[in-house]
Amino acid sequence: MFLKQTVPSFLIFLAVMLWTSVASAQWLSDEQAIMGTSVRVEVWSDNKTKGQQVITKVMAEMRRIDRLMSPFKTDSELTKINNLAGSQPVKIGQELMNLIDKSLSISKKTKGAFDITFASAGFMYDFRQKKHPSQASLKKVLPSINYRHIQLNRKKQTIFFKNKGVKIDLGGIAKGYAVDLGIAILKKNNIQHGIVTAGGDSRILGDRKGRPWFVGIRDPRNRQGLVAKLPMRDEAISTSGDYERFFEENGVRYHHIISPKTGKSVDYMRSATVLGPDATTTDALSTSVFVLGARKGLTLINNMPGFEAVIINKQGTMLYSNGFENLAPATN
Ligand code: AMP
Ligand code: MG
Repeated sequence: MFLKQTVPSFLIFLAVMLWTSVASAQWLSDEQAIMGTSVRVEVWSDNKTKGQQVITKVMAEMRRIDRLMSPFKTDSELTKINNLAGSQPVKIGQELMNLIDKSLSISKKTKGAFDITFASAGFMYDFRQKKHPSQASLKKVLPSINYRHIQLNRKKQTIFFKNKGVKIDLGGIAKGYAVDLGIAILKKNNIQHGIVTAGGDSRILGDRKGRPWFVGIRDPRNRQGLVAKLPMRDEAISTSGDYERFFEENGVRYHHIISPKTGKSVDYMRSATVLGPDATTTDALSTSVFVLGARKGLTLINNMPGFEAVIINKQGTMLYSNGFENLAPATN
């Protein structure tokens, strides 16, 4: 008698528990303006409150990175470096040291296409105010653009610029870095399916519950349009484009991706997308490939196992790295 009653009620209890946990599992998301761009986090969570708390933590981490690395905030560590490191070695924190070190290794790998000292000229542009430097003022600062001017001393934890005019800006790598930190927070909090996006940099955790995530590559000349949708799981993707921050004057498009050789906006590309295992690297590489151009950019990515690229050149033609051969239009 006892068994007859308790077994079914136990089963019912189990079923109800299971049902409530499945019923309350859901996609949660939030979008906020941070780091001069739009940050979006989406997670699958079986507990709404906990899921929302995790998203809040990711947003807080993004703000922390912005406070540390923004070149526009007068009290950021990066601004302090820019103000002082031209005249004396400046103590810096481990985190900034590591990211600058990573930037320097990407500079070497890309033969200087990626160079955070582009900022020596970059600071003379203001895309909102439609301001760009004159040829004469560019000529003066060009000698200051060279990543080899940056001297990191790991032992003493200092940075020094060997050229007085050097300024640095981590805009080509910091968003991807922040995205990776966001994904680390999701993992630490037992989230298994999610995405963290900051502007053109995204990283995906897991899949979309049994299906891949589809991440779009924007049409560089149509704000609403996409040129491709890529199926992805457990991967990062970054796009650099000449449509993000720009203005036009006398038929010239002034935008935020600068050739370290000339101090001018790169004029032979529309967008460069790089896929790979982590967003810090895909972010730096998408900027690099944009500066390198289609031919050199594809050669670089084809020699990096685990990375792929999709390029849209000045003519609007799409070009793919070797791993994408099957995706290329049959007519190409
Ligand atoms: P992304 O959208 O990732 O390509 O980043 C573009 C940002 O990278 C710009 O807004 C600049 O802050 C920075 N940047 C521009 N040109 C370069 C360059 N040649 N090397 C490194 N960073 C750059
Ligand atoms: Mg980038």
